[in-house]
Amino acid sequence: MFRKKLRRGAKLQMIWEMQEAALDFVIAALEKIRETSDRLPRASRLWVERLRFAAPNKADLLAPIRERVRICTKCPHLASSRTQTVFGVGNPDAEVMFIGEAPGADEDKQGEPFVGRAGQLLTRIIETMGFTRGEVYIANILKCRPDTPPGSFGNRTPTPLEMQTCRPYLVEQIEIIQPKVLVALGAVAVEGLLGSRGTMRELRGRWHSYSGTPLMITYHPAYLLRNQTPSEKRKVWEDMLQVLERLERPITEKQRNYFL
Ligand code: URA
Repeated sequence: MFRKKLRRGAKLQMIWEMQEAALDFVIAALEKIRETSDRLPRASRLWVERLRFAAPNKADLLAPIRERVRICTKCPHLASSRTQTVFGVGNPDAEVMFIGEAPGADEDKQGEPFVGRAGQLLTRIIETMGFTRGEVYIANILKCRPDTPPGSFGNRTPTPLEMQTCRPYLVEQIEIIQPKVLVALGAVAVEGLLGSRGTMRELRGRWHSYSGTPLMITYHPAYLLRNQTPSEKRKVWEDMLQVLERLERPITEKQRNYFL
């Protein structure tokens, strides 16, 4: 399993490097022709520049994964209960990537992660950090809403098997986006990502690592909605200050003193 993951990561890297090398070769050849030819140049400066920027972009690399997710039926019970899959949203070149557990009812309806009440709080946290929602990347461990019995309210926690089944999609997203920092929101997201269970009390507020990428663990915004005490909210904000420091982003005095 681990070897398979390594191989996929190495393959992606290799394709990337090969494409880059091939492009470098073509660009160098065109530039040479342009410089040495005494006839009309066969490649205009504009086209050489266009080629230079034709390197595969991360959005293009994410697109086929999004499509695989869209038609996924690995968990038949979720495939038949979902309105749609919820792949992820934001900047494929993001420095920071937030990871939640699974879509809720609002996300299932809109096809976008973190758009309900917890999502609005996450958006406020992101904006207070000095980012827009579009500048970061947001995804979940599960791409489908966990099904619930008809007529019941609220969300169901994903099962370990559901998380294990869906996790490879998230792994691929992280491999492509290559954020500088990951933020896991809540213990379920941590379990889905690292495969280990722990209490938030022992996990949050310090740096962990996911495949070499610094990982900050903090409370899920839904937890903050249930526990509106200033001390719990401040803890999340202190975790975010650590993220900003790690990203070497300037932090204003107002940000330092902020309470969510
Ligand atoms: N909670 C999550 O973990 N993810 C969402 O997308 C919404 C709520």
